[in-house]
Amino acid sequence: MLVAKFGGTSLATATRFRQAAAILTADSNRRICVCSAPGKRFPQDRKITDLLIDLAYSQDEEKSLLLRQEIEAHFQEITEELGIRQADMLHGQRISERLKAEEKDLSVDRYDGLIALGEVFSASVMAAYLCKLGYRAKFVGAGQAGILVHKIGDHYHMHEDSLNRVRDQLWPLLEGYDLLVIPGFYGRDFEGKRRPLSRGGSDVTAAWLSAALQADCEIWTDVSGVFVTDPRVHPAAQPLPYLSYGQMLEMAEQGASVLHPEAVWPLQAQELKLYVKNSFHPEDKGSVVGPNLHP
Ligand code: ADP
Ligand code: ASP
Ligand code: MG
Repeated sequence: MLVAKFGGTSLATATRFRQAAAILTADSNRRICVCSAPGKRFPQDRKITDLLIDLAYSQDEEKSLLLRQEIEAHFQEITEELGIRQADMLHGQRISERLKAEEKDLSVDRYDGLIALGEVFSASVMAAYLCKLGYRAKFVGAGQAGILVHKIGDHYHMHEDSLNRVRDQLWPLLEGYDLLVIPGFYGRDFEGKRRPLSRGGSDVTAAWLSAALQADCEIWTDVSGVFVTDPRVHPAAQPLPYLSYGQMLEMAEQGASVLHPEAVWPLQAQELKLYVKNSFHPEDKGSVVGPNLHP
């Protein structure tokens, strides 16, 4: 079984959603899809998560209204082009209405409640689109998927009970569906509240789901693997075909933002493979991270 995670640039437009769905359905081993919030469509664009962070901090209703509209417009562009009706996702609620309701509802935890909603919307769109294509796909919220988080210092991290909970929640669902679509980047705390992981945390969600289900993990992003240095800064850099977990962790900790450092150990603990692949060029080999693999 494979857990396939798609990052923000891989889900920024309807075309990227179509491509992600084509990748997902090309191999029936891919049973779990983890979605990030849509990223930038063009260089001056703003990531949905950054807009949500602004909304969470906004004290000004006029500014909040514009932010809600901007977030909704980005999703609407995607859903209209994919031919998905808003009624087929989020129980028919409009995105701006859902945002407004959450802003009120979560006054105490406004920030935590709001910022992971981009992943919720993204996964809802993907599940609706896969259903439209004729697959038995189901949106499963991170809480329903069994992802439990707790605070250590200032940030939320995965709680180890998530492993058993995810297994108990997802195995029965896997019997009834081809694909389960799960939002990345957050979990529920012991009180049942939505709490975000640190930025880039959808990688961590994917790694923990993989560990719980003993599945290998695919990270679908916008570059063809893990490079010696950031390929955006050094275009001549080459992807590394194989890396050990230790090498991957060291690179991630030193700022190779292609993978969140906390995504390494859950896979390492069970010797599960991690594939870093380019959703724009799925034919490229990408990188494999595993136990002391030799080139
Ligand atoms: P996603 O939205 O798919 O999670 P990220 O922006 O988090 O994507 O990570 C992919 C980016 O990581 C690439 O676009 C690349 O610029 C950057 N990056 C930094 N260091 C490296 C590296 N050593 N190898 C590959 N990519 C890297
Ligand atoms: N959307 C979140 C972020 O921008 C999480 C992620 O993409 O992994 O950090
Ligand atoms: Mg990332």
